[in-house]
Amino acid sequence: IEKPASISSLLNKRYEHISPILSTSYKDPIYMVRSAFQYMYDAEGNTFLDAYNNIPHVGHSHPKVVEAAQRQMAKLNTNTRYIYDELADYAAKLLKHFPSNLNKVFFVNSGSAASDLAVRMANYHTKSNTMMVMESGYHGNTQISIDISDYKFNNTKGQGQKNHIIKAVLPDTYRGKYSAKDPNSGTLYGKDAVTQIKQSEHQISAFISEPILGCAGQVPLADGYLKEVYPAIRAQGGVCISDEVQTGFGRLGDHFWGYEAHGVIPDMVILGKPIANGHPMGAVVCTQEIAASFEKGVEFFSSFGGNPVSCAIASAVLEVIVEEKLQENAKVVGDYYRSLLKDLMQKYNCIGDVRGSGLFIGFDIVKDNTKTPNTALASHIKNELRNRHILVSTDGPFDNVIKTKPPLCFSKENAEKIVTTVSAILEEYYNNGAIFDV
Ligand code: PMP
Repeated sequence: IEKPASISSLLNKRYEHISPILSTSYKDPIYMVRSAFQYMYDAEGNTFLDAYNNIPHVGHSHPKVVEAAQRQMAKLNTNTRYIYDELADYAAKLLKHFPSNLNKVFFVNSGSAASDLAVRMANYHTKSNTMMVMESGYHGNTQISIDISDYKFNNTKGQGQKNHIIKAVLPDTYRGKYSAKDPNSGTLYGKDAVTQIKQSEHQISAFISEPILGCAGQVPLADGYLKEVYPAIRAQGGVCISDEVQTGFGRLGDHFWGYEAHGVIPDMVILGKPIANGHPMGAVVCTQEIAASFEKGVEFFSSFGGNPVSCAIASAVLEVIVEEKLQENAKVVGDYYRSLLKDLMQKYNCIGDVRGSGLFIGFDIVKDNTKTPNTALASHIKNELRNRHILVSTDGPFDNVIKTKPPLCFSKENAEKIVTTVSAILEEYYNNGAIFDV
């Protein structure tokens, strides 16, 4: 067997033609060669437990998904200007998961393209272009998506907030103005946002938010918030967009879509990542009225959006979610995983909060007994987990929240393995003098 190339020579090769702005994970990057379900394998034959990747939603290299891709690729792949079964069949299958008023879908090739299209469609429909966006939100890498992503434009290296953007305060009940102890915190945050809406000089075209903000550090919108904001946006002629790129397709356990937990129905929904288990696909789901406004403009065309192969793959993904009861698994395993992390939070004062829903979880690493972010310790935990062959990431404005959002086939044993490993890392950390707690 050939000895694997050294990581430094592989990095040199990568950066010969690839810009370093495309970063790698971990202090010690991993050379991956294979993956299956919730496991990934490096070139040295090590097995990594993947507690991070939510794109291979039903499991890495799921055989049913791989088979659907191979079969359709060998049979027909083309653009949407021919008639073929897969497009209409998949559209109908997907829309069965939505309420009846969300009955039109446009396919593209990424979450970013879907966000971009959704903004364009909202603007056509409302004849306005002012957008209300969520603090710390992220919606993609196109110019329009960056313009609505506080996570990017508000970065010290970002382009800044454009004039047509209104930013809502993140309704965060852990670190924010209104606390989880107040049962009306969501409503209070919502009322503040409604004041902003009413004070806007221009009609707001759309309000966009994720139900749980991944890049903010897995922060769920406080309960009751959207019930205030959605009607106020609509009252002044705007539409409401839910970005379900991270939270959709049953990941949250209790619901298939994140907005359902808030008792609202958006006018537009953005889909991506898990929709095709890693095959590049995105979609905008919307009402008949919004689609009709868009149809009055120039023709919409996407060479690859909704091609037969993408539709066959996405269709297999939906089938696997149902057949393998993955939403239920996300609920059962996710609840268990969070309960174990909450037990750990009682033991270690550096875990300030455990939050999320189903298999979309974050735990907030702080300086002991405070809410001050402990970025160095979060990085230490992430890198130590990596050294012990467990994959997670960190995020949030202070990069101190450990994000864990594994493939939905994750098991209770997998959750136990992670929590006992985090516990061992923290035990060693405290035994060594808790050096990051100063
Ligand atoms: N919306 C959200 C909430 C996301 O997390 C992302 C990607 N992280 C996107 C949109 C953009 O998706 P993509 O990277 O597939 O273009």
